[in-house]
Amino acid sequence: MQIIEVLTQYSKLNRPFTYFYDGDDLEVGVRVLTNFNNREIVGYVTKVSSTDETIEAASNRLGYELVKITNVLDEKPLLTNELMELSDYVTSYYLTNKISVLNAMLPPSMRPTKSSLRAPKIATQNKISFNPKFKDFEELTTKQTALLNEIISLGSIMQTSANRHLIAKLIEKEAVIIEEVEKYRLQYDDYPQEKPHALTHAQKEAVKTILADDKETFLLHGITGSGKTEVYLALAAHYLAQDKQVIMLVPEIALTGTMLANFYRRFGKKIAILHSELTPAEKYDEYRRIRDGEVDIVVGARSAVFAPLHQIGLIILDEEHSESYKQDVAPFYHAMTVAQMRAKNHSAKIVVGSATPSIETMARAKKEVYGYYFLSERINLQPLPETTIVNMLDYKNITSTSPYISKLLASEIKKSLDEKTQVILLVNRRGYATYVSCRECGTPKKCPTCAISLTYHKVDHTLKCHHCGLSFPVKGPCEKCGGTNFSYAGFATQKAEEDIRNMFPDARILRLDSDVSRRDKTPQVVLNKFMKHEADILIGTQMVSKGHDFPLVSLVGVIGTDASLAIPSFRSSERTFQLITQAIGRSGREKIKGKAIIQTMLPDHYVIQHAKNQDYFAFYDMELRQRYFTLNPPFYFLLSIAMSHQNEKTVRNTIEILKHNLIDALGEDAYVIGPTATFYPASGKTYNETLIVRYKNYFKIKPVLLQTLSPFKEQSSLYVHINVDPYDI
Ligand code: ADP
Ligand code: ZN
Repeated sequence: MQIIEVLTQYSKLNRPFTYFYDGDDLEVGVRVLTNFNNREIVGYVTKVSSTDETIEAASNRLGYELVKITNVLDEKPLLTNELMELSDYVTSYYLTNKISVLNAMLPPSMRPTKSSLRAPKIATQNKISFNPKFKDFEELTTKQTALLNEIISLGSIMQTSANRHLIAKLIEKEAVIIEEVEKYRLQYDDYPQEKPHALTHAQKEAVKTILADDKETFLLHGITGSGKTEVYLALAAHYLAQDKQVIMLVPEIALTGTMLANFYRRFGKKIAILHSELTPAEKYDEYRRIRDGEVDIVVGARSAVFAPLHQIGLIILDEEHSESYKQDVAPFYHAMTVAQMRAKNHSAKIVVGSATPSIETMARAKKEVYGYYFLSERINLQPLPETTIVNMLDYKNITSTSPYISKLLASEIKKSLDEKTQVILLVNRRGYATYVSCRECGTPKKCPTCAISLTYHKVDHTLKCHHCGLSFPVKGPCEKCGGTNFSYAGFATQKAEEDIRNMFPDARILRLDSDVSRRDKTPQVVLNKFMKHEADILIGTQMVSKGHDFPLVSLVGVIGTDASLAIPSFRSSERTFQLITQAIGRSGREKIKGKAIIQTMLPDHYVIQHAKNQDYFAFYDMELRQRYFTLNPPFYFLLSIAMSHQNEKTVRNTIEILKHNLIDALGEDAYVIGPTATFYPASGKTYNETLIVRYKNYFKIKPVLLQTLSPFKEQSSLYVHINVDPYDI
């Protein structure tokens, strides 16, 4: 008999339950079917030990009645040894439960959950090849002969509905052999092979420097249009030539298509895609192709960092600064952190690229923890677009038709339309409606202590600081000009689109934001349409600003990003700077000279000024100073602890107890701040409170944290979520 330890999704604790099994030897890492409180469940085997005891004896020894495992679901472990080990690292680093890590790592059909029992089946198709024993060619009709010749010249073909009847005849006459093979459900376009561009001098230097660098992680900083993708391709070629494999991560699912095309044209078919919007069947097929060694390159979004490749040489994260690399639900992992864990296992290199690196990554590059190379010029030496700031507080600058559109922007759009070039308009919805600013001077309301923007809470008509938790009345004069009128007005994509449509009724306009249904792969469709010049104007949220290379764009208008500057987060300046810089970078990529217009009510803000000049380094210096004074990354690491419970009083009291326990236990090693209103929406009727911990040394505080938290995690109906290195607080 074997004693089996099993993890299940029903336990919020990271603790296995013990069962027995009397079949063949079980392996760690397979899924089993068993009972848990009289419910049939799927569990994940974490430990197997053999014993000569009887069930009764073992039950007596353990003090409870052992239940039997009723079925074994997998023949071999779900994960490779390396990934099994990685799942333990990730679980331990993110102070989370292993089931949530397994769910993040595996495609839905292979997860240890009940729904995986309805997993897709392997699809098959018939592969038809010539039967060498066949001699009776005269007996074939002309059509049959033609098809047989095609089969002979191609080696084999697949049976399809179109050729089904003809092939049936060939089978009948024993002219061909039929073989059932797996059919992969994800169909790739057949991109023609393409020769690489001759690298520019700067690109060659970048490749040389990266390959010669002995640090694990390398930051490739390159202004928009400096040709980073070509560097990625050259690096990939280098590792592929050494029989190593490559993971290419992109921040948005909408960008996988473009990146896939780049790699496919260069390296051909041994490539797979992994992201959350493939169908379960497609994902199942892609996952197995990767695991079974059929591909050398995996292109995908965040979760592709877990691709079950066996010989990784290189992991690339394009647009390194993107917040989408951080998963915002448990286990709250960051693709870069996981990439670094995997790189150790494979002795692989990590290359992260960006025109606007995150402050933390740049700080590590400056400290020479990461390697660094700067591509400072655009390919073809095109200048960056000429950028103008329009002050929207001055009514003379604004059109009479729309309060959102300046006269300058309107006239430049008209010029572009006349010249038949294209326009991108960036509008940002984030944080809108929670943002309160002075109507006279545009200054947002800030916390007097923490100097970050306050969040408007409609329920009690107050302003709250999400940093220190204090509340303020909305009334009270503007700190800058003494004005007493405040604007709560938000700004929305649809409204901008409406006004633009009214102003330019003949223009062809496309909109791209997260409302555009994702399942239909619409972002890619929208982007392709724009690329083919089937539209003149593309309006959208940050999705329009990332990565895409549109040769005909001559004008970028930044319509509303002030609200994003006012989001009460230490990250809001960085995020807004990145957003504007990336958006402006879409203008004037090829032969056309680019222009950009930033409409703002905060024309003197350092973010707006440095973004206008595309001066990353000036922004970095300024921002780093802010981070220093506010005890934020990279000077301190952060961790948030969210607690939820159905009873408001319980959660308030419990979090206060936890706070004091943490302060006592951590002492000098950390600051514990809060509780503050949380960013996670209260789901259903649960109440949330959040604590923030700031610290210098994670490995020092981690065991103390675990010990202090453990009694709270065990309380029933109280949920504790820990987010290590939250993107935002
Ligand atoms: P980035 O990602 O750095 O913003 P891209 O990789 O999109 O820039 O490159 C910008 C443009 O320059 C693309 O159209 C790309 O095809 C082109 N390009 C890149 N490298 C070369 C090269 N060595 N020769 C010619 N064109 C290049
Ligand atoms: Zn405050």
